[in-house]
Amino acid sequence: MTVAIYLPSQDNTDWWVKLMQGLLPGWDIVSMDAVTDPAAVHYAVVWRPRTGDIARFSNLKAIVSVGAGIDHVLADAELPLGVPIIRTVGQDLTQRMLEYVTLHVLRHHRDMPRQLQAQAERDWHSIVVPVAPNRVVGVMGLGNLGAAAARILSQVGFATRGWSKSPKAIEGVDTFAGEEGLAQFLDGCGILVNLLPLTSATKGILNADLFSKLPAGACVINCARGGHLVDDDLLEALDSGHLKQATLDVFHQEPLPSAHPFWTHPAITVTPHIASRIDAETGGRLIAENLKIFRATGTCPDVADAVRGY
Ligand code: NAP
Repeated sequence: MTVAIYLPSQDNTDWWVKLMQGLLPGWDIVSMDAVTDPAAVHYAVVWRPRTGDIARFSNLKAIVSVGAGIDHVLADAELPLGVPIIRTVGQDLTQRMLEYVTLHVLRHHRDMPRQLQAQAERDWHSIVVPVAPNRVVGVMGLGNLGAAAARILSQVGFATRGWSKSPKAIEGVDTFAGEEGLAQFLDGCGILVNLLPLTSATKGILNADLFSKLPAGACVINCARGGHLVDDDLLEALDSGHLKQATLDVFHQEPLPSAHPFWTHPAITVTPHIASRIDAETGGRLIAENLKIFRATGTCPDVADAVRGY
């Protein structure tokens, strides 16, 4: 029963190998690059696997994504079809995302970037902003993270909306579904939070057309995937003044290249994919539990739908 681990940095991989050896005594846990018998590998634990790495394992029973999204696994063009992909999700991940979303929604709502700029200029910029019930906040994606975020924002007092593929009912949240519900969801939405999975249907969804449906002065928070955003469209919408501010946690290329205009744009806050970066020990425990359940039963509740893409 061999578990092969791959993360883009070898140091991280080695660290995870040690962690998982401690959590799964009796299992053979190795770095993917140290596998000598690919046919003996039953589980692959990965973050952004290299193309073709997983296809070597002819007896693979499951792939574990070290994170909630599975897009980075599905990006492997040689991925064997039909092998279950287990997401790593849990209360820790949800809590972290709630903290991030609440922080940045409130920051935009209370115009903190402008306040900080005023402080730097010794400017007593005393303004009145709308109270939360008069601010519409929309959450795209109502899964584990999006539904929890929408609930919290509603509890803070925002006029909260949510958008998903299939209809949902969430107390205190006005919900919209499908492409037919998108324009209505966006209409009047002053702060937009993206928590969609990255799929062929959602790639590039944060684009000029979508921004044009938001009211002037809206703010955008992308804490899902860089591939959701058309970078140039965001820059244009900010530079034209149609959008006011953006907070970005995820990027097409990570780390964000040092020459990328997002780093220095006055209306953009960049964070380095830390919105809900699970600490490795908690993540390791979740992964170990899922592997034990999967080994015993042939499935587990966190198996994603690879055909659907999330
Ligand atoms: P999830 O449980 O899989 O939920 C996805 C939600 O998106 C569902 O409500 C789904 O609708 C909706 N959706 C999917 N495709 C759609 C479409 N074409 N149109 C409208 N709605 C659509 O995902 P999650 O666990 O909440 O995570 C969301 C994403 O957050 C992950 O995929 C990952 O990319 C990102 N993430 C980022 C970080 C970070 O640190 N920045 C950390 C963790 C996760 P239905 O319910 O109708 O299917």
